[in-house]
Amino acid sequence: MDTSREANWRPPSMDALLSAAAGVDLIADYGRQATTAALRDAIVGARASGGMTPDALLSDAALRLIARRRRSIQPVFNLTGSVLHTNLGRAPLASAALAAMQTAGGFVNLEYDLASGRRGQRDDHVSNWLKRLTGAEAAIAVNNNAAAVLAVLSALGKGREAIISRGELVEIGGAFRMPDVMAAAGVTLREVGATNRTHLADYVNAITDATAMIVRVRPSNYAIVGFTSSVPEAELAALARERGLIFYDELGAGALVDFTRWGLPYERTVQDALKGGADIVSFSGDKLLGGPQSGLIVGKRDLVAKVAKHPLKRAIRLDKVTLAALEATLALYDDPDSLAAHLPGLRLLSRPAAAIHAAATRALPALAAALPGWAVAIEACSSQIGSGALPVDLLPSHALTAAPAGPDPKGAGRRLAALGAALRQLPVPVIGRIAEDRFWLDCRCLEDEAAFGAQLRLLDAP
Ligand SMILES: *Cc1c(COP(=O)(O)O)cnc(C)c1O
Repeated sequence: MDTSREANWRPPSMDALLSAAAGVDLIADYGRQATTAALRDAIVGARASGGMTPDALLSDAALRLIARRRRSIQPVFNLTGSVLHTNLGRAPLASAALAAMQTAGGFVNLEYDLASGRRGQRDDHVSNWLKRLTGAEAAIAVNNNAAAVLAVLSALGKGREAIISRGELVEIGGAFRMPDVMAAAGVTLREVGATNRTHLADYVNAITDATAMIVRVRPSNYAIVGFTSSVPEAELAALARERGLIFYDELGAGALVDFTRWGLPYERTVQDALKGGADIVSFSGDKLLGGPQSGLIVGKRDLVAKVAKHPLKRAIRLDKVTLAALEATLALYDDPDSLAAHLPGLRLLSRPAAAIHAAATRALPALAAALPGWAVAIEACSSQIGSGALPVDLLPSHALTAAPAGPDPKGAGRRLAALGAALRQLPVPVIGRIAEDRFWLDCRCLEDEAAFGAQLRLLDAP
């Protein structure tokens, strides 16, 4: 570094920079305080490199301000092959839900009964829909399903025991482990059976005076296959009824319609769970249901009321914007025939493989042109529903794949990682995955082909 130059450079005065035409423009866009701070940072940077002209300082400050104001939450192309990808925001919302969120931004009758002019219940906005759609006596909504589980266990099992099969002691990503949640709720866990097999007698033998409930957890993000046995819900429900216990069905994914009508694998619905004898059911609002992040609790009136009255409910209640989106999403289920047309998640999950292949075919030339030195092709692949729903049922799909051309197996891994990084740096970041020495872009969720193709010209191909 040329220390003499560094020492000699005298930056222009802040006043001069702020009153230059470019400085005035920056103040108009970003405000005086942020512009001054960015110019100060630009000067510090310039000092280290021996100085900069006033114009260069202003340009540098402009870049800093753009970076500072860039939204942290950005849209991405989810070409991972996992539709309801938890890290990418799970269910894409219906336009009706987005419109409802916009409306709910202002003053709304959140807890105000317009008929009587008295205080209302915020859950009423969604509980009527949930009761109508599922046949449940009562329903409430909370922040997410993890919160729903905690609330149900705390309100209905605290200080007592809950019986659960060892095959269902699930961990759902990160810190949500059923045994830990039970402990946090003050419920004593009574594990029964073995990982692969649990019988009705195991439950019967575990019942004591301290038992409050039998819990059934849907093994959502894994499957136990082979020599397995679990007790049908109806038998557990009958046992619970006979012994005066609560039967709690923790569904997780939360389908409100039979997905087989769209050619998708069967997923136990909330209605089936209730018909099967569950006293209380919890599920996520942003998985198969296709709504905003939320946890829904439906079931017997007295039990749901107990959860609603528990102090925890106040801490995990939904805000008005989420409630509005949830209400609008639930209303779409009033016409199941048009559901796939209005719910983006369902539209993508049920997208025919031929349509995905056609999208991949149209996108191929732009990707091939952007990746000289790569072998770009279309290959069959399997998408996943995502967020733990139906982990073993894969959906036939097609992907654009890119393999580094040339015989350098050692450098291939690095080039694939570099391609992933370059795709993530596009204006709308493209998220794919690396497998079998290729980069995979599952085209199931590729809908805005024009935007995808156009931005590929900016790809800094490795
Ligand atoms: C996803 C899931 C949860 C957690 O739900 P969130 O809405 O993500 O909090 C809990 N239990 C099961 C079985 C799940 O599949």
